Formats: sequence, C-alpha cells, structure tokens
Amino acid sequence: MTDSDLQVSIENDYPYLRDPVRRICEQFPGEYWRRLDAAAEYPTEFVQALTEHEYLGCLIPEEYGGSGLPLRAASVVLETIHSSGCNAAACHAQMYTMGTVLRHGSDEQKQQYLPKIASGELRLQAFGVTEPVTGSDTTQLRTTAVRDGDSYVVNGQKIWTSRALHSDLMILLARTTPADQVEKRSRGLSVFLVDLREARGNGLEIQPIDTMINHGTTQVFFDNLRIRVSSRIGDEGHGFKYILSGMNAERILLASEAIGDARYFIRRAVEYANEREVFGRPIGQNQGIQFPIARAHAETDAAEMIVRKAAALYDAGRECGAEANSAKLLASEAAWNAGDTCFQTFGGFAFATEYDIERKWRECRLFQTAPISTNLVLTYLAQHVLGLPRSY
Ligand SMILES: Cc1cc2nc3c(=O)[nH]c(=O)nc-3n(C[C@H](O)[C@H](O)[C@H](O)COP(=O)(O)OP(=O)(O)OC[C@H]3O[C@@H](n4cnc5c(N)ncnc54)[C@H](O)[C@@H]3O)c2cc1C
Repeated sequence: MTDSDLQVSIENDYPYLRDPVRRICEQFPGEYWRRLDAAAEYPTEFVQALTEHEYLGCLIPEEYGGSGLPLRAASVVLETIHSSGCNAAACHAQMYTMGTVLRHGSDEQKQQYLPKIASGELRLQAFGVTEPVTGSDTTQLRTTAVRDGDSYVVNGQKIWTSRALHSDLMILLARTTPADQVEKRSRGLSVFLVDLREARGNGLEIQPIDTMINHGTTQVFFDNLRIRVSSRIGDEGHGFKYILSGMNAERILLASEAIGDARYFIRRAVEYANEREVFGRPIGQNQGIQFPIARAHAETDAAEMIVRKAAALYDAGRECGAEANSAKLLASEAAWNAGDTCFQTFGGFAFATEYDIERKWRECRLFQTAPISTNLVLTYLAQHVLGLPRSY
C-alpha cells in the first residue's frame, strides 16, 4: 500500500455504518443509562441489539461467520455509539479480544469458537491480564499455570477483569515458567481461553468491584483451577507477545470511543450554550463560554486524525504502535477536556444526573487509565519512538 492509498482510507467515514448504529442508539436514551448506572446493572438489551445487528462480530472474518470489516469500521461503530450518548464498554471487548484466537489460535480453536462468538452464542468479553500487586508491570504477574498431565492448574488473582460476570469465555495471561528460569522477563507467560461456565465454582470465583462508573468490572480468584492443555492459545511461554499483538487494536478502538465522547460533550455544550440565557443573552455569546468549546472541537479534530491514521496503518498491516499509543493519549485527553468544558458550560445543572453530563464525565475519565495509563503511553513514545532510555 502506498502513502496515497493510506490517505484514502484515512478519509473513509463509513456512513452506511454510522446511520444504523445511531438509530439503534436512539432506542437507548439517557434515561436507560441513568437507570442502569444507579442500579449498577448490565445493559443487556443494548448489547443484545448490537449483537443482533452483527456489529460485535464485525471484525471476525467472513469464513468464521463475521462481517470481515476492517478495524476502521469497528472504530466508526464505537465512536458513533459514544457520540450518541451510549457506552460500548459493556461489550467492546467482544469485538477485539477474539483477535488473540484469530491470530494465534489453532484451526480447531478458530472453528470451535469464532463462529459462535460472531453470532453472539458465545460471549468473549473478559480479558484477565492486570493483577493487584504487579499492576502495569505485566511481565511480573504472579498468576501461575502449572502443567499437570493434560491439564494446567491455575492459581492466583486478577483484578479489573471487566465483564467477567457477563462472559462465557475469558482470555487469561498466566506464568507457565517461573520468572527466574527465563532469559527475558516477557518469556514464560502463556495465554489461555478459559471457559468461565465450567470454571466458576470449580476453582474460579468472580467478585464484582464497586466502582464510580457502571463498568461490570471484577476480581477473579484462581484456586487450583484445572484447565485443559487444549485451552492454551499458541505456544507455551509466548503469551505476552500474543497479548501485545492485540493491544494496538484495543488502543485504537478505545481512542475512537473517546473521540465519540468528546463529540457528545461538544454537541451538548453547544446546544446548551445557545439555549441558556443569563444576563439577557445566550451564555454561548460570551467568549469565556464559546472559546473553550471551540478549543475542545479543535483538539478533538486533531486527535481524530491520529486515530484515523492509526486505524489506516493497522488495516494496511503496517507498524502502528506509535500512532495507536498517540491516538489513545490524545483522544483520552480530548474527551476529558471536552467533558470538563461541557461540565462548566452547564453550570450547576451539570451536577444533576438527569442531564447525563456528570455520568459521561465520570465514564470518560477511564480512558486516561485503561486499557493503559497515560504515563505508560508516554514511556512507550519516549523509548520506542524517540529513542530515550528505558525508564522502568
Ligand atoms: C474500570 C477499569 C476496567 C479495567 N478493565 C480491565 C480488563 O478488562 N482487563 C485487564 O486486564 N485490566 C483492566 N483494567 C486495568 C487497567 O488496564 C489498569 O488499571 C491500568 O493498566 C493501570 O494499572 P494499575 O491500575 O495497576 O496502576 P499502576 O500500575 O499501579 O500505576 C499507578 C500509576 O502509576 C503510574 N506508573 C506506574 N509505573 C510507572 C512508570 N514506570 N513510569 C511512570 N508512571 C508509572 C501509572 O501510569 C499510574 O498512573 C481496568 C481498569 C479499570 C479501572
């Protein structure tokens, strides 16, 4: 692919996806999300609607029953969901987590799982990497999977394993060779596809975490959980590489959600600034109100360009680590600044739940922490793009 071809794909906007996704979202207005938020409940009907319209399987190749669309298309779907005021966090992992199976699974695993994930019959929503003690230092994780005949015995704990209570399967990263017996710290880790339906109550327990957003996130405890050797994806000891290979896609897709949030905040701020009259004129007539909104718009446009570039490079099969990380960084900050601006524009009413601003504002804060925190993005750019010394 030439650079001019890349430019074309940067411009592709998928209106045929945006319009129907927007219409689905219209069936799930703020009132729906507020009710679930207050009760910390899962948006089952919303996820069902996206599943029925085959959006959650859009990245799965057609030969496995998906739509075989490029990453940019999935990015448009998620951005549209968020710009419509909805939240895809309940199900976005169903889109990209399957990439680990697709890229590194055996033919048998692909045949067994991908068609059912594409149809929604099987939910692959959970991704167990982060641990409470080791946090961002993923290669030091402590959960172990020890080979015993035709099984592995898993012990340890994961934290922030989102959607585990609403998923049939979970991608698990665990250490299969002790850290002091491997050449590099990224070696000796393996990936497994754990069937949560079999595992729960048989060595695996899931506990919800009470959080400031309605995210369905959990802690997962492993106590001599026995999983079949056939549940391992790819070669033993190479799991970290497999997980890394999916991270660019995840960063680009979540950056698209952040762009959607920023667009939502800007639209709501403009509407309110035009409607609300104080001192006998619309508040939007004041430069102190309109300049921050205009700045948020410019920042969002700029961030969106790097998100599009990252997706175009990814879809062209080209290296996109720098762009995916920059996209996540800039989009998360654009969303946060737009959210803060919208909050300020709404004055006291931003605090009233019925306006949805405080809920969206809480929700969009997550993009600066997960799936990777801002500092870790900056360490990537400093070391791998700029050639500065490794800082950790
Ligand atoms: C709601 C929610 C959902 C999540 N969902 C999932 C999920 O489904 N699956 C999953 O595996 N994980 C998930 N996560 C985990 C998320 O990816 C981590 O929280 C995130 O990567 C940060 O890790 P940590 O919380 O352990 O922070 P820590 O690693 O403890 O870091 C704390 C702070 O220190 C900074 N820091 C740490 N080391 C350095 C360094 N060397 N240089 C500079 N700064 C540093 C970090 O940037 C951060 O700001 C989720 C988290 C949340 C909050």
